Amino acid sequence: MSENRERNWLISCRDASLGYDNKPVLEHLDIEIQEGEYICVIGENGSGKSTLIKSLLGLLKPVSGSVQINRRIGKGAVGYLPQQTQVQRNFPVSVREVVLSGFLNDMRFRPFYNKKEKQEARHHLEHLGIADLEKKCYGELSGGQQQRVLLARALCAADKILVLDEPVTGLDPMAANTLYESMELLHQEGMAVVMVTHDMGNALKYADKILHISDNGYFFGSVGEYKQSDYANMFLVK
Ligand code: ADP
Repeated sequence: MSENRERNWLISCRDASLGYDNKPVLEHLDIEIQEGEYICVIGENGSGKSTLIKSLLGLLKPVSGSVQINRRIGKGAVGYLPQQTQVQRNFPVSVREVVLSGFLNDMRFRPFYNKKEKQEARHHLEHLGIADLEKKCYGELSGGQQQRVLLARALCAADKILVLDEPVTGLDPMAANTLYESMELLHQEGMAVVMVTHDMGNALKYADKILHISDNGYFFGSVGEYKQSDYANMFLVK
C-alpha cells in the first residue's frame, strides 16, 4: 500500500467478523474506507448491513479481527444518519435545536451552545437549502425536509465521514433525489459517505465503490468492477 493511501484511510476492517454474542453475521471482512470516498452498501434483508454500520460506528465490537477508526481523525469525525422511527418523526422540538444537538458529544458538561456552534449549525442549514425552516417545529416537516435537517445535524457532529442507514426509505422520489443531490454536493466537497441503500440505480450513479454483502461472502470494489461481477448478476444489474 502506498504511503498516501496509508495516510488517507478513515476506517479500516481487517479480517473482521461482525456479529452478536460471538456469532458472526459477516465474516473475514477486509475493507478500507478512504478519505472522500462514496461507498454504497447493498444486500438482501438480514445480510448484515446494519450490523456493519454499528461496527463502523464503534457501537459493536467485532467478534474477531479489527475495525479501526484512524486515530488521526478521531471518533468525532464520523457522523451518523439513522433510519427514522415514528417517535423521532413527531419530535416536538425546533429544527434549530435538532441541528444543534449534533454538537452534544463535544459539549461535555457545558450547558449551552457557543457562538461558533450556532454559526456552524446555521451554515449547514443554509448549505442544504433549508435555512428557512430553522424556527419551525421538526415534527411538522415533511419526511424529506426532516432527513435534510438530520443531515445538517450529522454535519455538526462530523467533518470527515457520514454514515447513513437507508436514508431515503419512506421518501417520495423527488425528496429522495434532493437528498441524493445534497449527499453528492457534500461528497464533491471532500466528505466520505457510507450509505446503506436498496436503491440500486442511485447507488450506481453516485457511488465510487459498492460493498455488496450476501450470505456467501461480499464484494468490495469500484462500480465498474461491480457491474462485471457475479454479485451484480444476483441483483440483475446490467
Ligand atoms: P440487514 O441490515 O442487512 O437487514 P442486520 O444487520 O439487521 O441485516 O441483521 C443481520 C443478522 O443479524 C440477522 O440474522 C439478524 O437477525 C441478526 N441480528 C440483528 N441484530 C441483532 C441483535 N441485536 N442480536 C442478535 N442478532 C441480531
